[in-house]
Amino acid sequence: MTAIGIDLGTTNSCVAVFRNGKVEVIANDLQGNRVTPSYVSFTRGERLVGEAAKGELTENCENTLYQIKRLIGRTYDDPSVQADMKLWGFTVINDDNKPKIPVNSSLGNIFCPEQISAMVLEEMKKTAEVFLAETVTDAVITIPAYFNDAQRKATHDAGVIAGLNVIGMINEPTAAAVAYGLDTESENERNVLIFDLGGGTFDVTIVKIKGRKFDVIATGGDTHLGGEDFNNKLMEYFVSVFKQQHGADISDNKTALNRLRVECEEVKRKLSTSDRIKVQVYALQGERDFGSEISRAKFEDLNRIFFDKVLDTVKNTLSDSGIKKENIDDVVLVGGSTRIPKIRKMLEKYFDNMNLKRTINPDEAVAYGAALYASSLGSVEDPALKEFALEDVIPLSIGIENHDGTMGFDIPRNTKIPTKLWHTRHTIVDNQKEMLLEIFEGERTLTKDNHFLGEFTISGIPPAPRKKGRVKVLLEINACGILHVRAIEKITGNSSEITIARDKGRLSESEIKRMIQEAEEYRKRDQELKQRSGARNELEDYAYSVKEEVRQKNHTEPQRESIMSKVTEILQWLDINQTEPPEMSELEAKKGELEKLVK
Ligand code: AMP
Repeated sequence: MTAIGIDLGTTNSCVAVFRNGKVEVIANDLQGNRVTPSYVSFTRGERLVGEAAKGELTENCENTLYQIKRLIGRTYDDPSVQADMKLWGFTVINDDNKPKIPVNSSLGNIFCPEQISAMVLEEMKKTAEVFLAETVTDAVITIPAYFNDAQRKATHDAGVIAGLNVIGMINEPTAAAVAYGLDTESENERNVLIFDLGGGTFDVTIVKIKGRKFDVIATGGDTHLGGEDFNNKLMEYFVSVFKQQHGADISDNKTALNRLRVECEEVKRKLSTSDRIKVQVYALQGERDFGSEISRAKFEDLNRIFFDKVLDTVKNTLSDSGIKKENIDDVVLVGGSTRIPKIRKMLEKYFDNMNLKRTINPDEAVAYGAALYASSLGSVEDPALKEFALEDVIPLSIGIENHDGTMGFDIPRNTKIPTKLWHTRHTIVDNQKEMLLEIFEGERTLTKDNHFLGEFTISGIPPAPRKKGRVKVLLEINACGILHVRAIEKITGNSSEITIARDKGRLSESEIKRMIQEAEEYRKRDQELKQRSGARNELEDYAYSVKEEVRQKNHTEPQRESIMSKVTEILQWLDINQTEPPEMSELEAKKGELEKLVK
C-alpha cells in the first residue's frame, strides 16, 4: 500500500508521495495548488477545509479556524496561548486547562485542537487519494524538531482521528535534509545546517550527510516563532496607527482584526521584494477607512527581537553540535519565511558570505523528505531508497525528578533515537511502600522550570531500610520521538510494568475513540450535504427550466398559472433554505410536485 508524507504546517500543509522512483508533490483538487492552507471553517452548515475555508476568514470570522498548530499539545494557561488568543478571530475556551474551540456547527460544537488538525490531515489524505486513485491510510507526519513530547503525541492523535495509520513522524528540518541530501547526492561527508523558518515554528538542525546517510548532530529552535509572529507585529503596529488616525481602538473588533491580518500577510510578502508599501483597507471600522505606508526598514525594526532570537538559536545549536561555523559546508533554507531579505542577509553575514542554498523548494522540501521517509518505512522496493539511513535526536532532555525537586537528566538532549535507558531508583525513607515517579523534559535544574510530562506511582515495594528498596525504570523513546516509561519493582519483580499515564493536557484512549467516531460522522455528513446541495441545485435548475418552457409553450392560462405558482413557491422555498440545503426527501417531494404538474 502506498504511504504518503504530510507536512502539517501552521499556515499551510503539503502532501507528497514517492512512486516510480521519484517524489511527487501533490496538487490539491480544488485550486491545483501544491500547498493547502491549514484552515477549517464551519459555514452555512458545511465544513470547509483549505482554500475554501480561508476564503471565509473575513466573512465568518468566529467560525473560521487557523494556526491550530499553535494550540496543539499546549495547555490553556500557556502564555503563548493566552497571547495568541487575543489576535484570533475565533474563541478559545478553558476546559480543565485544555484549550478548546467553540464553533457554530450542526455536529458537535466544541472542538479540541487535535480534531481540527485531524480535519486538515484528512483533507491532505483525500488529496493524495484523488491523485493516486486508491485509498491511503499509511502516512508519515512531520513535526517541528523542537516540539515537545505532548505536542508530538497530540499530532500523532490528530493523525489517528483523521483515519491515518501514522507509520512514522519525522522532524521537519530532518525531512528537509533528506530532500536536500538526495537532491545533491555527494559521496563526501558534508556538514549541513538546515534553517527552517515557516509560518509558526522555527528549527535549526545540523546534519552530517554522506551519500544516503543522514546523521542529525544537534537541533534547536522555537515552537512559537515564525511568519505569523511577523504578521502579528505588523498588526499591532497598524492598530496603533489606526488609533492615532481615528482615535478608535479596534483591538477587540475581531472582524476588523481578521481583515487587517489578511492585509498584513500581503504587506509582509510584498516587503520581501519592495522597499516601501502602501496599505489600504476600506471601511475597516464602520465607515472608517485605513490608509498608511510602511517601509522594509520599519518592518525589520518591528521584528528585531525575533530576528535576533533566530540568530542566537543558530549560534547555540552550533555550539551544541561541537561543529565550528567554518566547518559548515552548506546552509539550506526551508520554510516560507526564509524569503525575508533580512533573514538571508543576517545568515550570509554570520556565515562569512556563504552562498545560501536555495536549490530545494522551501515550501515543499519537508513534505518531499517525509514522502521518501514514508516509502523507506513501507514495503516499496526501489533502488532510490536503498541504503537510506536516518538517525535523529531528541530536542530536549528527559528526566525523572529527584526527591529534592531537581531534574535528573536521564536522557540528555540531542541523544540519538530510538533509545532505551534503564535506571535504578532507591527508596528515600524506611519501609517505603510506594514511589511516585514524575517525568519532565527541559534543560533547567529545577523541575518546576521544566515541562511536566506525566507521573505514575509504583506500589508494592517490600519493607526495607531507606535506600535499600529499589525500582527499575525504563525510559524508552521510539523512532517518532514519543516517550514511554515503565517501572518494575526490583526484589519481587511483581507490580509488573507500569506505562506512563498520559499527562493531564492530553487525550485519553476513549476520547480519541470518540473523536474518531465523530470524524466518521462528519465524513458521512459532508457526503450527505454534498448530495443534498447537488439535489438542491438540480431542483433550482429544473424550476428555472420549467419557467422558461412555460413561457415558450402553448399552455392554457389556468395551466400556466398553476405551474408558475408552483415554480415561484419552490424558488422562494429554496431561497429561505439558503444557509443549509433541505433534506433529500423534501427536495424530491418538491421536484415530484412540479413534475406532476408539468406532465
Ligand atoms: P511555511 O510554513 O513554510 O508554509 O511558511 C509559511 C510562512 O511563510 C507564512 O507565514 C508566510 O507569510 C511566509 N511567507 C511566504 N512567502 C513569503 C515572502 N515572500 N515573504 C515573507 N514571508 C513569506
